[in-house]
Amino acid sequence: MTALAKIVHTNPEIDAEPELTDGFHLVIDALKLNGIETIYGVPGIPITDLGRMAQAEGMRVISFRHEQHAGNAAAIAGFLTQKPGICLTVSAPGFLNGLTALANASTNCFPMILISGSSEREIVDLQQGDYEEMDQLAIAKPLCKAAFRVLHAADIGIGVARAIRAACSGRPGGVYLDLPAKLFAQVMDAEAGQKSLVKVIDPAPAQRPAPEAIARALEVLKSAKRPLIVLGKGAAYAQADEAIRALVETSGIPYVPMSMAKGLLPDTHPLSAGAARSTALKDSDVVLLIGARLNWLLSHGKGKSWGEPGSTKFIQIDIEPREMDSNVEIVAPVVGDIASCVQALLDGMGQGWQQPPSDWIDTLKAKREANIAKMAPKLMSNASPMTFHAALGALRTIVKERPDAILVNEGANTLDLARGIIDMYQPRKRLDVGTWGIMGIGMGFAVAAAVETGKPVLCVEGDSAFGFSGMEVETICRYGLPVCIVVFNNNGIYRGTDTDPTGRDPATTVFVPDSRYDKMMEAFGGVGYHVTTPDELTRAVNEAMNSGRPALVNAVIDPAAGSESGNIGSLNPQSGIKKKK
Ligand code: ADP
Ligand code: MG
Repeated sequence: MTALAKIVHTNPEIDAEPELTDGFHLVIDALKLNGIETIYGVPGIPITDLGRMAQAEGMRVISFRHEQHAGNAAAIAGFLTQKPGICLTVSAPGFLNGLTALANASTNCFPMILISGSSEREIVDLQQGDYEEMDQLAIAKPLCKAAFRVLHAADIGIGVARAIRAACSGRPGGVYLDLPAKLFAQVMDAEAGQKSLVKVIDPAPAQRPAPEAIARALEVLKSAKRPLIVLGKGAAYAQADEAIRALVETSGIPYVPMSMAKGLLPDTHPLSAGAARSTALKDSDVVLLIGARLNWLLSHGKGKSWGEPGSTKFIQIDIEPREMDSNVEIVAPVVGDIASCVQALLDGMGQGWQQPPSDWIDTLKAKREANIAKMAPKLMSNASPMTFHAALGALRTIVKERPDAILVNEGANTLDLARGIIDMYQPRKRLDVGTWGIMGIGMGFAVAAAVETGKPVLCVEGDSAFGFSGMEVETICRYGLPVCIVVFNNNGIYRGTDTDPTGRDPATTVFVPDSRYDKMMEAFGGVGYHVTTPDELTRAVNEAMNSGRPALVNAVIDPAAGSESGNIGSLNPQSGIKKKK
């Protein structure tokens, strides 16, 4: 049954009465027609009824406490499903709150559509001071991949179709769809309305690479003495898991996964060079990038992370042609979708493929084993309060035992150390701060991960990071989602030990000492735990994850344990003024 049935005014006596539909129902019908089943949002003028009606029409409508988290949920739903995640917001302030998530989605190449109600065009454009007046379309444009406004109910089908295609095709990204309040109430003939809807055919068409590009890439790869594959989150997004595994195993080339590509092959795979990352980058001579950009996370492909200048040749697979040569020369650009490109490389390798020299494989293996051995004792410490390493050592075992759980991770030390310590075993199970290193994705990602996959979610959060989206604990409880949040509570940002030199206020980086974040979860009916040792942490997380109920574990971490900005302290500018003695 379609939405229009609800507002059909038929009277068998009077055949002439036309069946009608309106803007609300056409938006819902257009989304449903395109297989979109979930909306993440915050209700309010003018979209409150849109949410209600969508729910009545069988869509899942997940209401948040703040639009940024609804937006983050939509973005990660897009990453997990390859369908654009939908975020629905009210005009001006709600729209702006959602915009951070939209911009972040575009930066991370996640398909998402921010649908926002907006105020009356006639008043906004004359700047006459409407309720929540703002030229939202103009503001959204530079922050997303595409932005559209629909003024007529008859154009809703096309507007939604354009938004979906823009979000999913080519390099995925965030799209803004502006729907002014008046549009929702516009009435039109129901049959004409249905006909105006568009089911997007093949929203992300395969983009096959040129055979010359594949041949060139294989030539370069064959010439390598120390080849390396770098898997990025584009490779995770592409869902070409089998082909990627086959490429690694057939070629025999070691690989380094970027953070959200961890688990594409298990981190314990013999060809994983994750634990020998620095050596792998510095000493490789040919690097095949698969859905990974040479941005700051890879030191822009140059500098001391990459050894002698010019010593590394890059082959890059990416769907976006303009990504090539963005930082350094790409000697073999392979433009196309990852599934097609990887398959073409595999086909081209054929029977006679030579495995890389064994001394390179042995070097990386030795380095990896040494690094793992060096780390091991730190992970086993039973000290109280806990170090980051000891707490993460406990969680590492839990993830190993529950490989299908989804790990959401943010913070500074909590992020950087977890990325290295917690091995992942399955694709798209690690969701984190991505390209920007944004804080505040935690609860939004957790909600969508649970809703979209039905899998248990483990959120490993720095106490500061958690604060950005902490109120969504209520959302998690309201929907009864299987989310276990572990807050690494070290009393502050980076560390909990700073003081104000004047003695007047708390230092800028500290929080109320010994806070009990577990009580926040209890406030909404979830289960709270307060733990001070790795054993207690293990017991609490296992109990919570077995129960499938919302839980928050307040894990007490040594306030002196963290380092400034985690692993990226070098990005902090240093004052040029010398302190007087
Ligand atoms: P990471 O941060 O993990 O290195 P990035 O987000 O920097 O990953 O890079 C992801 C890259 O993957 C982007 O350049 C994007 O264009 C590309 N990409 C995303 N999806 C596909 C796909 N299906 N096929 C090819 N390239 C893709
Ligand atoms: Mg902290």
